[in-house]
Amino acid sequence: MRGFSGEIRYHESLAAHTTFRAGGPADIWVQPGPDRFSECAASLLGSAAVAGIPVFILGGGANIVVSGRGIRGMVLDTRSWSGWEIEGDKVLVRSGTPVDDLAEGLGGRGFSGLEFLAGMPGTVGGAVWMNARCYDREIAGPLLETEVLEPDRFGTWRPHWIPREPLDFAYKKSPFQGSRALILNARFALERRDPAELRRVMAGYCKDRKEKGHYRYPSAGSAFKNNRDFGKPTGKIIDELGLRGLSLGGAQVAPWHGNLIINTGTASAGDIRGLVETLQDRVRDSLGLELEPEILFVGDWDAPATGP
Ligand SMILES: Cc1cc2nc3c(=O)[nH]c(=O)nc-3n(C[C@H](O)[C@H](O)[C@H](O)COP(=O)(O)OP(=O)(O)OC[C@H]3O[C@@H](n4cnc5c(N)ncnc54)[C@H](O)[C@@H]3O)c2cc1C
Repeated sequence: MRGFSGEIRYHESLAAHTTFRAGGPADIWVQPGPDRFSECAASLLGSAAVAGIPVFILGGGANIVVSGRGIRGMVLDTRSWSGWEIEGDKVLVRSGTPVDDLAEGLGGRGFSGLEFLAGMPGTVGGAVWMNARCYDREIAGPLLETEVLEPDRFGTWRPHWIPREPLDFAYKKSPFQGSRALILNARFALERRDPAELRRVMAGYCKDRKEKGHYRYPSAGSAFKNNRDFGKPTGKIIDELGLRGLSLGGAQVAPWHGNLIINTGTASAGDIRGLVETLQDRVRDSLGLELEPEILFVGDWDAPATGP
């Protein structure tokens, strides 16, 4: 590609690019450089569409399980597109920015709005796409607008801004799911608060995550969504059926939390998916409830990928 700046690798193992540390290779892994990220991404997406090459957009790889056979086509890695700019009572953030860095960077300077994301893995693009949530707040809350790359009616990929209203966000749902849009930038509302107080709040979140064992083993956070109609959190349902500690190959239901599947060291992507399906079967057989995975199975699987 003329004028391309960045890195291209063939048959790149994606295990190192995901928090589960499992899964096969990308046929082509591309990371446009930060100097011309938007132009290069637009050109890659346009060329891939013309050539019929599927594209998967990768953020922090914190919510996905890549098939052992890998991902066919191109993986476009956004992580070089990182950084933010404070604009008075707003912040403009590049999509590849780690949410944890953003929360700490803003909170430490007395800007409130995104501190609930302290300690959470993943990028801003992935968090907007997933409508990530924790501590009773979701990223759609402070979101004001999102800049996306999408094809116009002539098939040319162009950036354009989409205001938050009237977009439909819901529990773990964003309007970007099911679209081809690459999230480039997002703008969030900020408020001024005492930096010391914000640091204390964020330290509390990080301590809570540590105590919940989030960082003890590779994982992708909660394996299943919660469902209000079930009357209790999914983790509790799994606990009460005595399924904590259940393992398949190197994948295990965390012995300390029913809704966390961990890679004990040797888990294949198939082990993780097999364990997710086993839990679904056991809960369905015992209680007639259908657990919905929160983690996304991406790439070349036999069965259709599950999740949002
Ligand atoms: C230890 C641990 C704790 C976690 N705790 C929480 C939690 O408390 N709350 C929570 O909600 N999640 C949690 N997660 C899951 C994960 O951190 C979030 O879902 C996060 O938002 C995923 O972001 P990502 O950049 O890693 O996305 P990825 O996993 O890389 O991708 C997820 C999806 O987003 C799409 N995507 C990513 N970037 C873009 C972009 N720029 N444009 C378009 N599409 C894009 C991908 O194509 C994919 O479909 C946790 C994960 C771990 C490992």
